[in-house]
Amino acid sequence: MNAWKNYNETDIKALEGLCSEYMDFLSAGKTERECTTLIREIAEEAGYKNLDDTDMLKPGDRVYSVNMDKSIVLFNIGEDIVRDGLNIVGSHIDSPRLDIKQNPLYETEEMAYLNTHYYGGIKKYQWVTMPLALHGVVCKTDGSKIDIAIGEKEDEPVFFVSDLLIHLAAKQMEKAAVTVIEGENLDILVGSRPLEGEDKEAVKKFLLDYLDKEYGIEEDDFVSAEIEAVPAGRAREAGFDRSMILSYGQDDRSCSFASLKAVLDVDKPEVTSCAIFVDKEEIGSVGATGMLSRFFENAVLEVLERMRLDNGLNLARVLRGSRMLSADVNAAYDSLYAPAFELSNASVLGHGATVVKFKGARGKAGTNDANAEFLASLRDIWDRNGVVHQHTEGGKVDMGGGGTIAYMLANYGMQVVDCCVPILNMHAPWEAISKADLYEVFKAYRIFFKEAK
Ligand code: MN
Ligand code: MN
Repeated sequence: MNAWKNYNETDIKALEGLCSEYMDFLSAGKTERECTTLIREIAEEAGYKNLDDTDMLKPGDRVYSVNMDKSIVLFNIGEDIVRDGLNIVGSHIDSPRLDIKQNPLYETEEMAYLNTHYYGGIKKYQWVTMPLALHGVVCKTDGSKIDIAIGEKEDEPVFFVSDLLIHLAAKQMEKAAVTVIEGENLDILVGSRPLEGEDKEAVKKFLLDYLDKEYGIEEDDFVSAEIEAVPAGRAREAGFDRSMILSYGQDDRSCSFASLKAVLDVDKPEVTSCAIFVDKEEIGSVGATGMLSRFFENAVLEVLERMRLDNGLNLARVLRGSRMLSADVNAAYDSLYAPAFELSNASVLGHGATVVKFKGARGKAGTNDANAEFLASLRDIWDRNGVVHQHTEGGKVDMGGGGTIAYMLANYGMQVVDCCVPILNMHAPWEAISKADLYEVFKAYRIFFKEAK
């Protein structure tokens, strides 16, 4: 059912307000670090305290825990955490992009480039000839940290990856799409002006001179930096009717934003609310800041310690007794590519929160197959509260597949199902969603935090 058909004037006002805030969030948070900072600031404004600065916690208290500035988890403590477990919504705040390498800067034929290694699954040909911004940090040996964000403001320069002109591309155009742009050709053009009085590598020297004067960055400092090239520019409304949003990073910041707004909207929940925002999902949830690390489990244990409930059995009981919505976007049906989908089980734009019982590939391998009992309880609370939801898969059987963090939390023995915003152009520089779907997903998460048990 198309969610737009449900809306009265009040709904539209709430939807537009949410989406306008969402577009600001997307435009300000283009990396996992920027999103972590944003989420922490928004949570603090809403009264959340840093768990590290807390000695005692009781029902009604709200705390957050940050992991290495790249992931963050929020808790709103409910009545009986051991008895009820947590109501968790978990999303990821990393997105596909081009990462700058350790020894990136080189000059050839008086043009200077930054070498990159792409991050996450991308169609490489989509990332050339478009304006890119550089975001990240450079860490100096003296312990200082320089924040970088260049290319977002109108008066700032942008960067780009060049592509061969069509006039000379006869050979290139015969290649398969997977090799038409090679990974090592995704180097970013960053300068072409020689430094006065220099003969050798004068363009590179101009840039090093600039970086030193402007930021105090030396060439060796790239070794201890994390700089990401992302599409430059703000999130925009799309369509004559402004029914959609086109932006970088909506996988998975659409779900992150919806869960953040939902968790902040819940006052004194019966069951403890927990919103997880993690890094590294796009490369397998690995490393200290990914969902496979112990960060989340340790944070729960720290919460229990502050309630004087910290023993291993309580931790196991809390996690096993929890419910989770794994909040990571799903493919929206694209009629231009209809053969990739099976329409009766495809997510349709504007049809609300997409619930994915299972995906997986080659006979559901790797999927978190949600329990029917859990799905029934969710249908009940959503239906009673007017949430528009659809129940779908990723695409046609044996067309491919993809994973989410669902199975990682399910390993604790808790109830988990994927529930998310459907998205067009997933992993492209500019991804699209329906405003109505964001609104319904926000409502789905909010009711889940309030009523799931
Ligand atoms: Mn993804
Ligand atoms: Mn994702």
